[in-house]
Amino acid sequence: MKIKKAEMAGFCFGVKRAIELALKEAQVNSGVYTLGPLIHNPQVIERLKAKGINPFEISALPSDIKTAVIRTHGVSREINEYLNSLGIKVIDATCPFVKKAQQYAKLLHEEGYQVLILGDANHPEVVGIKSYAGPDAIVVSEPEEIVKLRKRVGVVVQTTQPVEKLQRLLERAITLCKELKVYNTICNSTAQRLKETAELAGSVDVMLVIGGRNSANTTQLARLCESIGVRTYHIETADELRDEWFNGVESVGVTAGASTPDWIIEDIINKLTGLREEDDKG
Ligand code: SF4
Repeated sequence: MKIKKAEMAGFCFGVKRAIELALKEAQVNSGVYTLGPLIHNPQVIERLKAKGINPFEISALPSDIKTAVIRTHGVSREINEYLNSLGIKVIDATCPFVKKAQQYAKLLHEEGYQVLILGDANHPEVVGIKSYAGPDAIVVSEPEEIVKLRKRVGVVVQTTQPVEKLQRLLERAITLCKELKVYNTICNSTAQRLKETAELAGSVDVMLVIGGRNSANTTQLARLCESIGVRTYHIETADELRDEWFNGVESVGVTAGASTPDWIIEDIINKLTGLREEDDKG
């Protein structure tokens, strides 16, 4: 049985950076908290807890908090100001790509554009970007949702949106306004991971997609594999692997979401390699 691992499986640049910032702080300070779970992976969250890094909610400030870490999605301007008013250390681990989207939204608003955001209005990243975009900003998740625009419109995009959707949005928006300024704030890492996963899924008998069940980007990878028609298993850890999934299987593809650590991927590949050796003996 051949095992093919996607090159881009696992932590993206922004997640890696956020975890390193939090771990570095916990080495020198106690009372380190992250605003919400740092990433959507239960196993990593448990490891962080073991190192003294715990999540907190803005409505329930821990009494011993000394450092608050802002996660990759970023926060709204109001929450940022609130955290900085508390007299604690604030480590901003907002991914630099998300930060750019926030800055462009602010700039467009200051230049007098109505800011149009393509993304999921309820996603924390979009909530954060919108808070910098002025009172007349609008968020749409589908281009068809745009009904009316002002004359001058500036576009920013949630980092995980597909570029094809941005193209459709621009085609529609230009018919409803006079001036359109666009910042393409899509993160290539997501698009490349999806492309690589689609190619891999098209060339194997079974796909394993590794990552938190609460991770949107891991779930998106699993759905993509299923839509290609390959038998797909979304798992979080090696314990979930079942021998019978691989009966008569010649090739397995392995991919993982941006919040899946290397040690979980390695664990699973090691167990798969063990199954293959058993298979060869049998
Ligand atoms: S997917 Fe891209 S934008 Fe999101 S955290 Fe990772 S590097 Fe940053």
